[in-house]
Amino acid sequence: MHALDATGVELTQKDLLAYLESAIEHFNTKGKPTPTVGQAEAFYQLIGEDLTTVRSLLTRYREFWESPLEHRLRSTFDLIQQSMRELGIPIDYAQFGIVDKYPSPYEELAFWAMNFDETDRQRYGLQIGTRLRRDFLMPFYSESLLAHELVHACFGRVRGTKLARGLEEGIADIFGHLLIAGRFLPWEICENILLSTRCFQPQSPFWMNYAESLRQASLLLFESGLTGLISLARKAQQVGRDYLREIEHDLLRGTMPAMPRSHCKIPDWAIQSSKRILDFCRKFLAFPQSLCVSPLAYEIASKARVGENFSSLCERLALDQPQAEKALSELRERVFLMIVCDKDTISFNESPIYVDTRSLRYTAIDTQ
Ligand SMILES: [Zn+2]
Repeated sequence: MHALDATGVELTQKDLLAYLESAIEHFNTKGKPTPTVGQAEAFYQLIGEDLTTVRSLLTRYREFWESPLEHRLRSTFDLIQQSMRELGIPIDYAQFGIVDKYPSPYEELAFWAMNFDETDRQRYGLQIGTRLRRDFLMPFYSESLLAHELVHACFGRVRGTKLARGLEEGIADIFGHLLIAGRFLPWEICENILLSTRCFQPQSPFWMNYAESLRQASLLLFESGLTGLISLARKAQQVGRDYLREIEHDLLRGTMPAMPRSHCKIPDWAIQSSKRILDFCRKFLAFPQSLCVSPLAYEIASKARVGENFSSLCERLALDQPQAEKALSELRERVFLMIVCDKDTISFNESPIYVDTRSLRYTAIDTQ
């Protein structure tokens, strides 16, 4: 596991949980009222709570990160190939490697992973398949990413002039991060990885592209089911990326694309996963991107009671009143979650359903 302590020293697997324990204690201490809770204290409290969640996940899924990751990735690769074969989109021609630097002409790129296709093979003599950068390897995530990348290998079988982007990314998310990774990683981890990597804030247009692609693929999934999406992948593997681009073009025009007619048989494990994948995609489509607030606003939104007086709330939670007033304005004016009226009374608080589903999130702040 690649993890560093505060001084940049790499942690071994054995001392990771102990380090996490001391970090939780550190943030819990810093989060205590001094004498009141402002943005910084709220931020530390929330980090302490999140690290506690991380600790419980690492303890529950110990067997997924205690064994050497590079070994795990080798056996994961075999299972991914096997899965793709069973789905009728075999990628036996694809290789997998862990590299310090990508081969020429891509050596300057700093992506966590790259997938080379038939065009790269013919132009640059590169082996088709996925390379993961060693310095970016992460337990859980790298395995899920490998499955995503190898789905691209399916669409890159035929030489073409199209980039692996747009709708293809969304299909790689559904097949790779969910359907296939769900075979070798705990489902809650698969969901967390995909939701976190597609919905984090603030987001650059480069990363928004991935969320937009997953929305497109989710739409197709709801229209045609997992079987329809697999039929589409089978055809795209045969004819190349141009076909995917035509389907995406239809979606962009608001037309439901003509999906390939096929009564393809899919394996039982895929049928059994289809409900949870649909549930995930529904959650993803419903997920509010805008609900990211400051730590103190998050604290107030999650703990304020309707009917409570604002001054009493500050007293109950030991909040710094001037900072809490600003946070309240943020909740009222920026994200429209809470309104205080009738002489300082909290009249509306719409936050509970967003807190419960973790769609209300807090932003990191500079505490220096
Ligand atoms: Zn991708």
